Amino acid sequence: MNSKNGNYVQGSTSDSKPQISEDTPVQYIKGVGPARSKLLDKLGIKTLGNLLSFFPWRYEDRKNLKTIGGLMPGSQETTAGRVVSSSVMTTPRKRMKIFELVIADDTGQLKCRWFNQAYLKKYFPKDQKVILSGMVKGNPYSGFGLEMDNPDFELIGNEDTLVHTARIVPVYNATEGISVKQLRTLMFHTIATYASIITEYMPEDIMKRNNLRPLRWAVREAHFPEEYSDITALNSMVSPAHRRLVFDEFFLLELGLAFLKKREALKKGISFAYSRNGLTGNFLHALPFHLTSAQQRVIKEIVSDMERPLPMNRLVHGDVGCGKTVVALHSMLIAVENGYQACLMAPTELLAEQHFINIHRMLDTLGINVSLLTSSSRGNILEEISEGSIQIIIGTHALIQEQVRFRKLGLAIIDEQHRFGVVQRATLRSKGDNPDILIMTATPIPRTLALTLYGDLDISVIDELPAGRKPVITKVFFPSQKDRIHERINDELSKGRQIYIVYPLIEESEKLDLKSAIEGAEAMQKKYPYNSVSLVHGKMRHDERENVMARFKTGDIDILVATTVIEVGIDVPNASLMLIVHAERFGLAQLHQLRGRIGRGTYDSFCLLMAYPPFSEDGKSRLKAMESTADGFKIAEEDLAIRGPGDFFGTRQSGIPDLRIANVIRDIKVLERARNEAFTLAETEPELKKYPALKETLDKKWMGRLELIKS
Ligand code: ADP
Ligand code: MG
Repeated sequence: MNSKNGNYVQGSTSDSKPQISEDTPVQYIKGVGPARSKLLDKLGIKTLGNLLSFFPWRYEDRKNLKTIGGLMPGSQETTAGRVVSSSVMTTPRKRMKIFELVIADDTGQLKCRWFNQAYLKKYFPKDQKVILSGMVKGNPYSGFGLEMDNPDFELIGNEDTLVHTARIVPVYNATEGISVKQLRTLMFHTIATYASIITEYMPEDIMKRNNLRPLRWAVREAHFPEEYSDITALNSMVSPAHRRLVFDEFFLLELGLAFLKKREALKKGISFAYSRNGLTGNFLHALPFHLTSAQQRVIKEIVSDMERPLPMNRLVHGDVGCGKTVVALHSMLIAVENGYQACLMAPTELLAEQHFINIHRMLDTLGINVSLLTSSSRGNILEEISEGSIQIIIGTHALIQEQVRFRKLGLAIIDEQHRFGVVQRATLRSKGDNPDILIMTATPIPRTLALTLYGDLDISVIDELPAGRKPVITKVFFPSQKDRIHERINDELSKGRQIYIVYPLIEESEKLDLKSAIEGAEAMQKKYPYNSVSLVHGKMRHDERENVMARFKTGDIDILVATTVIEVGIDVPNASLMLIVHAERFGLAQLHQLRGRIGRGTYDSFCLLMAYPPFSEDGKSRLKAMESTADGFKIAEEDLAIRGPGDFFGTRQSGIPDLRIANVIRDIKVLERARNEAFTLAETEPELKKYPALKETLDKKWMGRLELIKS
């Protein structure tokens, strides 16, 4: 181990470069060391490769820093000067500490203020050179004229000119213990010393066709742009350097997906026979409604997949309540009719149970054996599955356990895909001989994102709700309007309807949140003494929670107060009102999912969002979006616009590589090109024999999850 360390150090100081690679732990990089590597770890930087791809989030043009005299009041500016004076003052009334700084250059003086940050004083001795950026205010009452409140600052030493001024400088996301300036210095030296290890892996013709700059250049440029680079393009992340980096992220993602898809397509699957008059016909005839045309279209797509002798890999997505279960059942019946078993995997026991109850009820008359398998299942259900006497199995993760053996699994359906990853999908598939796979998700995904995340799947969309559904009326209320909320609640209760009241649960304040939910439930019980109020929360035992939910479903409970997000998929048509407390704390997708629990019957339904000001601009946009649309796809697009795709939903969880600088909205054109190139390459070079460097990069990016090209 010691000699290895020695090598790293040597490698960074002499010509023995070969030992240094992207995988070299960052602690062996010049200027890092053990203490700093811990800090970098907090930023997700573990290796040299991570460090090189830790890109700035914005750039500042310090080529020609404005003189103080040239600053424009009302605009965001960056300037430099030397400290003239600094002092801490206390306001008489509010006893707030204000740190005041005056700097000057040859053209004038600038006064800056920081509120409640008296400790800053120690950083600004007289004559210290400093760079400040912030909004310029003109103050007509002060002799100084120009001011900035809470500007960003950097202290500049005389030796710092090259890295921190006189150029376009990168601004990194810092963390406690390591400042922007320290990061910039570290990056500067890292790029200077190690950028040479970056090797090109992109096939030349792809680079040509797509006008891509070399990778090493792009990495350098994205950190320390050349003198005449376009600062606006850099800041919008659409500079030639960014374009190259974005292309690569998409390309490697899509190439992996292309191989996954290809590998599946090469397998021999089951060719199911389909007839309109069989079980499926009886099933459809017995339904108390007609299928929507979207349901019919998707069923057709699934049938044609199932008839083909290739394994099906299809994602069905559609908003809550669009009727995915019927579509799933229809395909399960095709499998059963052909002598196969079918299973449906749900993300929670509660959901599995709910599905089981519904499906059991719908299939009973057809004489089909349906069973429920969860971790709490007892008895000889496992034998019945392996003997084949059970034809349809509904379950949780328990389905993919080692000891579960199917006699003849023909179709596996996964509900609410976003909680399962690529890995679970593969495990489920291995339970049969290349069974067909159908994934259903209620998370509405804009098409672009669906392509990105599920590029290895075929996609069907149920973009229509059954006729006669009444849209849920959504309205934002403030705490001062509690009376009006109670009027509505009273109204609904008097009509015999049921109510959901949802409290947020945010991890850091779990106890507090739970307390407010408990108090909320008590207050409701007092207010409505003739109705029964119950509470469910995450700290309850599983069976207790299920018990409460079950009693709500049967109508025993009128008002259900919940801290945990009421699980997706719970179906209580008689519940017509949902009050979401502290709605400003919820994400948009979450609000929409919650709202999907009501409006499931034929009654007018109401979603009341109680919001506690002050809230952020984002919070405001979310509440507005909820009021103005009930369309899950619009909501999803809005959500993407507000939050950005980064955390739209965890890509990490879905088992595919992260997108760090690529943005599926901003970079959609690049995504399309990268996807085309990737899918073409997977066809023409099925083993990437000609491109060993690309193959290695791809494998690393997917962290071995692909295992696609074994050589
Ligand atoms: P989701 O897509 O959210 O899983 P479900 O499959 O649970 O939706 O369907 C929601 C409700 O709508 C169920 O009660 C179901 O019986 C009903 N439903 C499904 N399809 C139709 C239809 N075409 N017309 C009327 N009701 C339907
Ligand atoms: Mg469902």
